[in-house]
Amino acid sequence: MHLPKSGDFIDIHVHGGTSSPGIFILESLMAHEGKTPDDIAGVAFTYGIHPWFLNEENHKQLLSAVENTACLPDVIAIGEAGFDRLRGPSMQLQRLAFEEQIAISEKLRKPVVIHCVRAWDELMAAQKKLKPKMSWLVHGFRGNVTLASQLLSKGIYLSFWFDFVLRPGSGQLISQLPANRIFLETDGADVNIMSIYEKVAVDLNIRVDQLKQIIINNFNTFFGIE
Ligand SMILES: [Zn+2]
Repeated sequence: MHLPKSGDFIDIHVHGGTSSPGIFILESLMAHEGKTPDDIAGVAFTYGIHPWFLNEENHKQLLSAVENTACLPDVIAIGEAGFDRLRGPSMQLQRLAFEEQIAISEKLRKPVVIHCVRAWDELMAAQKKLKPKMSWLVHGFRGNVTLASQLLSKGIYLSFWFDFVLRPGSGQLISQLPANRIFLETDGADVNIMSIYEKVAVDLNIRVDQLKQIIINNFNTFFGIE
């Protein structure tokens, strides 16, 4: 099992990443891609059904891929799973696939990385209904402070969308949120995780090494690592 070392930058949501010294990545494998952790060496994985690539025809097949892969030791979280009102199948099918993946998360005791676009009501309703014990992380967050506070108050962690973080205006939001509940990510885009850390360290008025330590602590809490 791959875990971040003290001093590592953590990129919590990546597609198509590779291992490199000093940077810990959580590679997000999507069930429809047909890849397995064996195809990529030296990193940790999430595995799940992305709502964009779910349909009535592939639903059962994708679900069994999650069941068969999520139990592997290098898969440390389920996802990305979630809801998207702008792209993907009916909300009914998205809801079913999400609930099935939450059941797997709870059974395997692995937390969940969430994709959510314009469907916060669905996410909140699912949490209320399912009462998960495992932690949830919304990745690619770019909302306002009201939405952020609402999610945080439900115990949900936030990882900011890389492009949002790098905008000067995001500093006001980031500085208002509890640093012990945040993560940073590149989402596989051509952007350096170190420059994202540098920007957020300025927003929080701390040093990059302090931010690294905070995010490693967050990682350990999120994944239930002692
Ligand atoms: Zn993603």
